[in-house]
Amino acid sequence: MIPFLDLKAINQQYRQALVDAATRVIDSGWYVLGQEVKAFEQDFAVYCGATHCVGMANGLDALVLTLRAWKEMGKLQEGDEVIVPANTYIASVLAITENGLKPVLVEPDERSFNLCPDKVRAAITPKTKAMVAVHLYGQLAPMKALMAIAQEHQLLVLEDSAQAHGASVDGKRAGNWGHASGFSFYPGKNLGALGDAGAMTTNDPELAQTVRALGNYGSHKKYENLYQGLNSRLDEMQAALLRVKLQHLDAETRVRQEIAVAYAQGITNPLVRLPIGPDSTLDALASHVFHLFVVRVQQRAAFQAHLKAADIETLIHYPIPPHQQQAYKAYSSLQLPLTEAIHSEVVSLPIGPTMTAAQVQQVIAACNAYRG
Ligand SMILES: *Cc1c(COP(=O)(O)O)cnc(C)c1O
Repeated sequence: MIPFLDLKAINQQYRQALVDAATRVIDSGWYVLGQEVKAFEQDFAVYCGATHCVGMANGLDALVLTLRAWKEMGKLQEGDEVIVPANTYIASVLAITENGLKPVLVEPDERSFNLCPDKVRAAITPKTKAMVAVHLYGQLAPMKALMAIAQEHQLLVLEDSAQAHGASVDGKRAGNWGHASGFSFYPGKNLGALGDAGAMTTNDPELAQTVRALGNYGSHKKYENLYQGLNSRLDEMQAALLRVKLQHLDAETRVRQEIAVAYAQGITNPLVRLPIGPDSTLDALASHVFHLFVVRVQQRAAFQAHLKAADIETLIHYPIPPHQQQAYKAYSSLQLPLTEAIHSEVVSLPIGPTMTAAQVQQVIAACNAYRG
């Protein structure tokens, strides 16, 4: 069986370094907010090109607490509208509603699955105060155009970079485009911890300080509480493990991009709609770190069954769009045909840094043998 993502094999590559890092933490006697978190925050800020990084317990908290910090800073108020792609993973939307803000679900660009500047412009009202620019599946959203719109309309931009560690345009990476960015280090993400972990990045020192306080009981100073915060901290163990894995991230991304190019060139079945063209070159792909390689197939169930019979595991990202979830019953009357079509047709093929060339060829052959 070709697994969708072989996490065990991925972490096995760095086993000794991970064990050494874990041992260092165990032996240090210091387990929360110590040297490892500080060092990882510095390393990851440098990696993204941002001046500040704040470790958090997970990616959702990074998004929630950044929006909350803007409220505490007087930049957002309950009821403000926040633009978000309708086809995102539900966490992007949860971060908005958790703060009493109003998500405005916008149809994506059909080809990139990301926000489309024209559709964003059309969704702006006098109440719009922010947007969550999701870099879905690992591809940077059209940030130049989105930032120009934001500047024109004085909107705050929060990148949801949970799937896009290292994705760049003109050498500028996810985490350094918006006014702030949330990252997840959930084990299956491109930079994955061995448990839950997350971070936010920003070039705004006041925002960084506010988010840090919010994630530490609202305390900026021991036993003094500015805000009614909560406890959402990156812990020392995960930070130490992430420092090891960050050193290998670019090499792993390169492998993902090579697999994507191989798929784009090798899969020629017209029933399988590819996310990139067959002429895509590695250099042109800096903007996409291929957290997922998502194809569209009309008879999705049959296609998945065909691949399963060929010993290939696939997943769906995502089967139900946020506005059709029970959690968002209030939005169920929205008509979002493009989003709904995407959700009914997408299939994610296996992609990961430990896939072998033979496995990649096996996936290509199985896709080409599919007859509908
Ligand atoms: C994974 C993910 C999140 C949430 O991150 P967690 O660390 O799982 O809380 C948010 N947004 C997107 C797009 C994600 O893929």
